[in-house]
Parts: sequence; C-alpha cells; structure tokens
Amino acid sequence: MRQRGASGRAGLVQVYTGDGKGKTTAAIGTGIRALGHGWRVHMLQFLKGGDPLSPYGEILALARLPGFTVEQLGPPHFVHPGSASEEDRKAIRRGLERAREALSSGEYDLVILDEINVALQLGLAEVDEVLALLDGKAEGTEVILTGRGAPRELIERADLVSLVEAVKHPFERGIAARPGIDY
Ligand code: ATP
Ligand code: MG
Repeated sequence: MRQRGASGRAGLVQVYTGDGKGKTTAAIGTGIRALGHGWRVHMLQFLKGGDPLSPYGEILALARLPGFTVEQLGPPHFVHPGSASEEDRKAIRRGLERAREALSSGEYDLVILDEINVALQLGLAEVDEVLALLDGKAEGTEVILTGRGAPRELIERADLVSLVEAVKHPFERGIAARPGIDY
C-alpha cells in the first residue's frame, strides 16, 4: 500500500458544508483538478441514485473520465427527517462500509464522501463512525466530506472547512431544479 498520495504528501481532511449551492460541485471540481495531476479519484454519493432516466449530470460526465469513478449508494429518494425506512438505513450502512474500504485501501488519492453530513443529520450514521473512517484512512488519501449541517466534531477534525452561504437562490422565486445546473 502506498503511504503517500499522488501529491507525495499526507492526505488531508476537507469539509464543504452550509446551506448555499456549490458543495457537491466544488468537490467534483476538486476531483477533476486532482485527476489532471494523475490522482485516482473516487466519489461515493450517499442519499443519491436511482432514476436512470434522469441521472445527475456528473454521473454522465464522469463515465467519460477514466480515473474518476463514482458509486451511488442511495437510497434513491428524498429521506424526510424521522422517516427513514430499514432499506434506507441499509443503504447508508453499505455506504459506510464502502467508504471504509475506499479510504483504507490506499487505492485512491482522493475520496469524496458526498452528502455524508446529511446522513449524519438524519441520524442514519453516527459522527463517531465517520471519525473512525478518517482515523483508518491510508496516509496518502485525501478526503472531502460534503453536505449541509456538518457536526462540530467533524469540523474540529478537518484540516480545511468551507462554509457555502445561501445568499440568493432562484428556487425562492419558484424556479425549479434545472438540469445541467442543479443535477
Ligand atoms: P450542488 O450539487 O449544485 O453543488 P450543493 O451540493 O451545495 O449543490 P445540496 O445541499 O447538496 O447542494 O442540495 C442539492 C440541490 O439543492 C441542488 O439542486 C442545489 O441547487 C439545491 N440547493 C442548494 N442550495 C439551495 C438553496 N439555498 N435553496 C434552494 N435550493 C438549493
Ligand atoms: Mg450536495
């Protein structure tokens, strides 16, 4: 197992959180930048997936970019607070196990755990489990965790934290999610 990432340095922990738009796309942008330097990038998307007729644009684009792989772990529907099913919980458990493998194997230089903060907010994972994933990561692997409501313990543990503030969003004027921009 390689001890250092493609950058030749120890991998750090980044968190992109807040209520504004731009967290997942910032993580993907960083992944593309890393790919340009020959990094092996893997993104695990929690709470996403499903509709093959209306996939996220990033899934379609990344299929054309060898070296930047993605797995959607689901559940493939919106989970309201307090309404998670047993299937939803299983999807998150499977995701955490995949995250453990991806982070500890040394196979990737950058691992993105997209929306994992939302799984924490919904009570579908515990912050201690996520901290344990970080403790067990290969030294050279950089990790980005995204999603609203990052818990204090994660913010304290991270090396880089960006808070995306919602100042305006067209949704407030009744403009629905747009393909190419929002998904
Ligand atoms: P993106 O995937 O575009 O980078 P994000 O990861 O920061 O957005 P999420 O909190 O994961 O945002 O929410 C995903 C969806 O919700 C996107 O379609 C996004 O445009 C939309 N969204 C994000 N912030 C807001 C907001 N403040 N008001 C309304 N919709 C929002
Ligand atoms: Mg997001």
